[in-house]
Amino acid sequence: METFDLLESEVRTYCRDFPAVFTKATGSRLFDERGREYLDFFSGAGALNYGHNNPRLKRRLVEYLEGDFVTHSLDMATVAKREFLERFNSVVLAPRGLSYKVQFCGPTGANSVEAALKLARKVTGRRNVVFFMNAYHGLSLGALSVTGNASKRASAGVPLHDTTPMPYDGDLGPGLDTLDYLEAFLRNPGGGLELPAAVIVETVQAEGGVKVAGGEWLRRLGQLTRRYGVLLIVDDIQVGCGRTGSFFSFDEAGLAPDLVCLSKSISGYGLPMALLLIRPELDAWAPGEHTGTFRGNNLAFATASEALTYWEDDSFGRSVAEKGELAARLLGEVAAAYPAACASVRGRGLIQGLSLAPEGLAADVSRAAFERGLVIESCGVRGEVLKLLPPLTVEEAELREGITRLADALGESVGRAGLARIPAAREPEAAAREPEAATREPEAATQRPAAAHP
Ligand code: PLP
Repeated sequence: METFDLLESEVRTYCRDFPAVFTKATGSRLFDERGREYLDFFSGAGALNYGHNNPRLKRRLVEYLEGDFVTHSLDMATVAKREFLERFNSVVLAPRGLSYKVQFCGPTGANSVEAALKLARKVTGRRNVVFFMNAYHGLSLGALSVTGNASKRASAGVPLHDTTPMPYDGDLGPGLDTLDYLEAFLRNPGGGLELPAAVIVETVQAEGGVKVAGGEWLRRLGQLTRRYGVLLIVDDIQVGCGRTGSFFSFDEAGLAPDLVCLSKSISGYGLPMALLLIRPELDAWAPGEHTGTFRGNNLAFATASEALTYWEDDSFGRSVAEKGELAARLLGEVAAAYPAACASVRGRGLIQGLSLAPEGLAADVSRAAFERGLVIESCGVRGEVLKLLPPLTVEEAELREGITRLADALGESVGRAGLARIPAAREPEAAAREPEAATREPEAATQRPAAAHP
């Protein structure tokens, strides 16, 4: 790793968490230059939903390259872009009765968020944008202004204004609908909230700690924004493209957002690509008003078109949902064996979070897991949640193997932290019959290990 320490900026992160020099990758597995093999439950932070070097997508990419098709074209028309637009429309949008214009943004997720914020302000003539506590929308200035994390916001170096935070679903504890709070501000002209141009929301706050919004809450948010003439932006960058078991994470809630941000796995092959879906009547851009050099990655269009074959019927989505249920059950068993350390298991489809306490434990487990050949990252504003994010193509046996490695790592870290493990008689099968042990409220659980920890 010396070369990276010496020559690469201090800003690097993941190579610190996963200190190996990787060489090859296939499916759910990564290999390093020492020949060690790792199960990848991180999937490029959600950019590799179809696994590393997916053979179908690779074939398409190689054919494209060998055919000398256009690689770079700014936003000029190419056959690769046309094919993607037509396939995206026929495979994803039309069957859902959705109609969107597609804006190709700069290559990364934050570029899509920037475009959404700018367009929402232009269309409504308003400045304010509501976002939610613990939201993560990227680190460019506009995206940061709707991101919750204090240290990330501080890195902006300038004031981040014209945005208002509101509590996400569950943030005010059980039994309180946080949308009552938002609605009170929207309803009362004396409330001091500048009527927003838009509300931006993640249906599952992935970086924020795998916090899942309920379907009813999302539907009500859709109704509220419509009633007050506020645009609804769904940021589906991390949990879209099938992560929750259907192509859009808002399918289940039956939403039709005004603007949708997509990136990460939209190319399917880990190639940079981001887009903004715009309700046609909101497409108020003047030609070239929001432009950039890299808005036409044709290699990404080629693999993205191919990736859509996974969504031509609902069998792939069903397999994701089934594997998600298995992952949640197995994680529940692990959590039940360590009640002093595990606060809750939560997630949708193949994004599952295991919330741990005390602070620092999740990072320690991630390190111990890496030593056992499992790549898994911690998330949440205090890094308190382990986020299980395997490729959607992961095999059931790999899922089981990865969770076994995770359980071993947790055992080691819990032992190091001096936390008690429950007696062997209750683990893990017996514990799995008592799911409430693994799903109790995080607040209660965080107090327990603090007392157990000297
Ligand atoms: N939005 C969400 C929900 C994300 O999870 C991320 C990245 O993790 C982004 C936006 C920013 O994407 P990028 O890092 O590609 O700029």
